[in-house]
Amino acid sequence: GKVPFSQFLFLCPMRYLLNQLLWTRSGSKKNPSSSAFVQINQKYYATDSAEYPDLRKHNNCMASQLTPAIYARLCDKATPNGFTLDQAIQTGVDNPGHPFIKTVGMVAGDEESYEVFAEIFDPVIKERHNGYDPQTMTHPTDLDASKIRSGQFDERYVLSSRVRTGRSIRGLSLPPACTRAERREVERVVVDALNGLQGDLKGRYYSLTQMTEQEQQQLIDDHFLFDKPVSPLLTCAGMARDWPDARGIWHNDQKTFLIWINEEDHTRVISMEKGGNMKRVFERFCKGLQEVERLIQEKGWEFMWNERLGYILTCPSNLGTGLRAGVHVKLPRLSKDARLQKILNNLRLQKRGTGGVDTAAVGSTFDISNLDRLGKSEVELVQIVVDGVNYLIDCEKRLEKGQDIRIPPPISQFK
Ligand code: ADP
Ligand code: MG
Repeated sequence: GKVPFSQFLFLCPMRYLLNQLLWTRSGSKKNPSSSAFVQINQKYYATDSAEYPDLRKHNNCMASQLTPAIYARLCDKATPNGFTLDQAIQTGVDNPGHPFIKTVGMVAGDEESYEVFAEIFDPVIKERHNGYDPQTMTHPTDLDASKIRSGQFDERYVLSSRVRTGRSIRGLSLPPACTRAERREVERVVVDALNGLQGDLKGRYYSLTQMTEQEQQQLIDDHFLFDKPVSPLLTCAGMARDWPDARGIWHNDQKTFLIWINEEDHTRVISMEKGGNMKRVFERFCKGLQEVERLIQEKGWEFMWNERLGYILTCPSNLGTGLRAGVHVKLPRLSKDARLQKILNNLRLQKRGTGGVDTAAVGSTFDISNLDRLGKSEVELVQIVVDGVNYLIDCEKRLEKGQDIRIPPPISQFK
């Protein structure tokens, strides 16, 4: 029903007054002295320390770096889009740990998040990226795949090779915070640009909303498509809202160059194929990525990027290159050796199950990829994976022959 005009006149100044008293920045969380206001508004006002999350059982990077003092300084801030600290850390609060990897525990809602909340993002980035200091260091880019050496793996061990990154469209909020309209705009802009790809990169877009359940499951089972939104890391960060609206996959006819749209990032750009030819996979990745960037720019858009953080993505673990170069590799003997984790740490490699980050390993085949993405170039990181995986295969062969293996010295970085 309509509010009578006389009552409307009365309500307006009342509401204005209440808002002023209760929601001004300095008073936003403080309990107003007059209890009458609390009764009218039925709101509970707490101090910053009463809002501090319980992180005592947590082992993600955010939980290691957040302090009550940092929380108090940042909890009333917001980016120009309205993204808050509590939104940024929610996924890390709700997911104390992860069964297989050490997670970051926080996400960005937009490009500005990394500046507004730098006081917590920077130490998290430093911990996650092996000492890279975003305050003093700059990030290099190198997409010249011809520099890779020994990029062909022994295919008795390596089943498939893959390189992926992510890219975000400047001016649109990231998946944890974007509106439906922004998400659909990302899809429109990117698909529009990708239609310009030519030659062996030429392909088409498959929208999740237009796919049958079986088609989707087949793409997931064949390792081409992101999982359904089952991961609590994703859902707790708000990235599964409105699923499957505006999500989909673009790929070329051979399914060797693929672009995910609106999963964890605006875009994920992937080059992959069966077998062990990592050099060829990386060559296609570099060529395709540069083409995609050119086409996006042609349409008047650009990627989020700055020289301290490199390419800006949703999860701080992906800043810099956004690059994860990996193989599915069979290591039956080495995977039963207690030294494997130490070897991987020293080589700056990460181990995942072959069904994606949230799956356990089946049998003795693993997804082995680079751990760091920031502070080293694409070429350097792929070379780390090439050398590291060759080392692991060498260990496996030695164990087959009953010979001993050695833990390699750690790759030092920014120490
Ligand atoms: P990302 O870091 O790209 O999000 P995930 O761990 O979430 O990776 O896995 C996404 C999908 O990519 C999964 O289906 C996974 O099996 C597939 N995948 C990852 N690495 C490889 C690889 N080297 N070969 C084949 N498929 C892979
Ligand atoms: Mg993923």
